[in-house]
Amino acid sequence: MYSVGTLFSSAAIKIANLCLLLYPVPLLVKFNMAKQIFVTGGVVSSLGKGIIASSLGKLLQARGLRVTIQKFDPYLNVDPGTLNPYEHGECYVTNDGAETDLDLGHYERFLNMPTSQANNVTTGRIYLTVIENERRGDYLGKTVQVIPHITDEIKRRMMLLGNTGNYDVVITELGGTVGDIESLPYIEAVRQLRWELGNVNCLVIHLTLLPYLSAAKELKTKPTQHSVKELLSYGIQPDVIICRTEKHISPEIRRKIAQFCNVESNAVIEAIDADTIYDVPLNLMKENLDAITLDKLRLSIYSKIDMSQWKEFLGKLKNSTSEVQIGLIGKYVELQDAYKSIQESFVHAGAANECRVIIESIHSEHLTPDNVASKLQHLNGILVAPGFGQRGIEGKILAIQYARLHNIPFFGICLGMQCAVIEFARNVLNLQQADSTEMNANTPHPVISLMEQQKTITQKGGTMRLGAYQCQLTPHTKAAEIYGNKTIQERHRHRYEFNNAYLQEFENNGMKASGINPETGLVEIMELPAHRWFIGTQFHPELQSTVLHPHPLFADFIKNAILHKNSAT
Ligand code: GLN
Repeated sequence: MYSVGTLFSSAAIKIANLCLLLYPVPLLVKFNMAKQIFVTGGVVSSLGKGIIASSLGKLLQARGLRVTIQKFDPYLNVDPGTLNPYEHGECYVTNDGAETDLDLGHYERFLNMPTSQANNVTTGRIYLTVIENERRGDYLGKTVQVIPHITDEIKRRMMLLGNTGNYDVVITELGGTVGDIESLPYIEAVRQLRWELGNVNCLVIHLTLLPYLSAAKELKTKPTQHSVKELLSYGIQPDVIICRTEKHISPEIRRKIAQFCNVESNAVIEAIDADTIYDVPLNLMKENLDAITLDKLRLSIYSKIDMSQWKEFLGKLKNSTSEVQIGLIGKYVELQDAYKSIQESFVHAGAANECRVIIESIHSEHLTPDNVASKLQHLNGILVAPGFGQRGIEGKILAIQYARLHNIPFFGICLGMQCAVIEFARNVLNLQQADSTEMNANTPHPVISLMEQQKTITQKGGTMRLGAYQCQLTPHTKAAEIYGNKTIQERHRHRYEFNNAYLQEFENNGMKASGINPETGLVEIMELPAHRWFIGTQFHPELQSTVLHPHPLFADFIKNAILHKNSAT
């Protein structure tokens, strides 16, 4: 279990480790397995299990442990790639091209480490594997059942990352709420794993809600008691109970929950509503969640916690010296979660500039030539969001034209970049019917068109250009200057691309390709050198911004939004 880095961390354990090394290989393999922590949710959904898991992961990482977080989702889609953002929020993409739940974005932003396909599993993926096994004849002669076949496949996947030897601790967030019919096989898998691994290798944390009744002026513990009872009825006694609450929990309430839910009093943890999700790790640290976790998992040999960089980030975030207003133009703006990574990237970029970034969500469908000025003129920067399909496209193009003509910092991401290309073609190159073939298959000027490899694809799931690709930056461009690098790697999720047949015409008229894929020649970044700050990226920079490494494009965009604001006043 001990990582190489921590193996010799204290003189006291040197002898123990020496003894360990003398043990036969199978025992070492067992000791190489990560400790497992499961986070379940009770009472209601949307309690923020992802933030709790990420925060605990951060605290354990700050203790010197190698941590990863995975999410098991109980729906039947094989992955969330085919889901409308209204259904499940943003689809997050990993380096290896997995389309995943947005909580993986939190895991990466908090831990500053990439995740992969293995970090997100759905019921659909589990069933697909089991049914494929059955068709191949792997269970020949047997009746294939939820228990043991589905639960075995869940357990196998739950243990995959922990068995690599790369991690000391694996935190698994279970989607849904205890008691949901669709979550049952996961709960049963956790029960079995706990029995197989033993309590010191496997911890269950249950997150519940303590509702506050203002009439009674009281926090209520009954829903938590019922939720734990439900979990107990499936054979799982939680070790730690984390209570989401809007008021501080009194010692009496802690005692009551501990007594009626059979946990130690110090294992009842308060998770009070916070100003920002980035406060949560420190709030949980005050509640000793990391120390309790280490203790229960017999990991108390680890180093003193170091959250100094995190605190530095929070200090900058909370003590901003300036403020900018950024328009986020999209068509899913009613749903906060649809642009989660973009919003968080702005938080990181704001902190990097000690600036408060106020995001004004603007529905692209509501923008018209008559109202565009009144809706955008007060903004210090405009970001046009990614998206799919025709709806809202003309509003995005109007916003881009406004930003271009009024020298307002403009950032276009994926569809936002494609719209910037269409706008330039129509209004500068005078190709009035220019379009993307996604919007108009018969356009006479397909400045954005389907990638060659996409033309024969008929299946929708997992077939876009997905994951990390290299991009070569053109010297002496804004992009090259911002990144300070010749080659970068960024993540993609799209089917359409800039049509290189038009590149010369664009460049001759002032829009430059400043990033190119070195293998395929695909244009990855477009910019207007004559503009204050006008950059469109075919990739999604928001997927790589973390607390410790704010994305350079976002940071520079905010820096220029501040400059623009100051120059105008
Ligand atoms: N719809 C566009 C494409 O498929 C852009 C996708 C996106 O913005 N992620 O190419």
